[in-house]
Amino acid sequence: MNSQITPAAAPTPVRDVVILGSGCSGLTAAIYAGRSNLRPLVLEGHEPGGQLSITTLVENFPGWPDGIQGPELIENMKKQAERFGAEFKMEHLVSVDLSSRPIKLVTERSTILTRTLIIASGASARWLNLPSEQALIGHGVSSCATCDGFFSSGKEIAVIGGGDSAMEEALFLTRFATKVTLINRSEKFRASKIMLERAMAHEKIEFLPNTTVEEVLGVDEKDVRGLRIKNRSTGVESILPVSFMFLGIGHEPNAKAFTGLLDLDQDGYILTRDDVYTTKDGEILPGVFACGDIKDRKYRQAITAAGSGCMAALEVEKFLEGHGR
Ligand code: NDP
Repeated sequence: MNSQITPAAAPTPVRDVVILGSGCSGLTAAIYAGRSNLRPLVLEGHEPGGQLSITTLVENFPGWPDGIQGPELIENMKKQAERFGAEFKMEHLVSVDLSSRPIKLVTERSTILTRTLIIASGASARWLNLPSEQALIGHGVSSCATCDGFFSSGKEIAVIGGGDSAMEEALFLTRFATKVTLINRSEKFRASKIMLERAMAHEKIEFLPNTTVEEVLGVDEKDVRGLRIKNRSTGVESILPVSFMFLGIGHEPNAKAFTGLLDLDQDGYILTRDDVYTTKDGEILPGVFACGDIKDRKYRQAITAAGSGCMAALEVEKFLEGHGR
């Protein structure tokens, strides 16, 4: 008789640490965890490299007296993490079970088991959420000046926002655009003094405070033809003839997957205790750590994100040691 034995499926190996996100924070965690021989797996997420990968010159990261381009800084960090054995996968988290041990992560391609988890999935650009804006994304509406600035060459454009992101974008876009109008819903611009002064001193940048965008024109033409704007004090509407609109109105934390699983603040940022420990109903959730912009609404700098990534990796090491690894 010809009996066929079906081989049992190999059990899924349990990892020591999985890092969600490949921005400054996740990569720093990967460097530290890698150097501790934990062979971290990094799930790169929807925006590989995070916010630094879509920024231009980073002038305030220590060690670079002349500044460094954001994408180059990220690439260097990734190489550094790989050198210490970090593994990278272009997969996205579909669901996560934080109540089981090992922790179970499901991506669109695989199921991953891990003893510890570092959540470093950062924050993403915010939109105005006007139907016309959404319809024209990629057709003259963009949230990434670095990616799409070139396409605004020789055009009059608008940048929305009044914080440092908006100033940075506006200044960067003066390389391409003939005129940049900065539209801010508030009277007061929130940007730091130095950035605001730089933007104000630029001959191509014009300020339009106390103004909201009501509609992006050009949906039928599939190309931005102007903005219908409204002065908030007078209520008077007018048309601003621009051919491109860039958003620079801040970011949302990428923590939706953890709603109900972890304690989040009112804006969806992960709440942490002792810097990087996550909690559920006020109690520390063992083995689950968060670092970087997903839990930091205050500083949000590359160096603070890197610092908290380092802290998370060191706490992972301590946690695993405490559990006999
Ligand atoms: P901020 O939160 O500082 O500013 C957001 C801006 O967008 C505000 O002007 C806000 O207006 C406006 N805004 C928010 N939501 C809407 C909306 N729905 N419609 C219209 N306007 C809106 O975010 P940033 O991204 O600018 O900065 C975040 C942090 O990162 C800051 O700490 C900043 O210093 C830092 N940063 C530093 C840089 C650098 O040093 N090179 C570069 C970029 C950022 P309002 O004031 O009315 O709320």
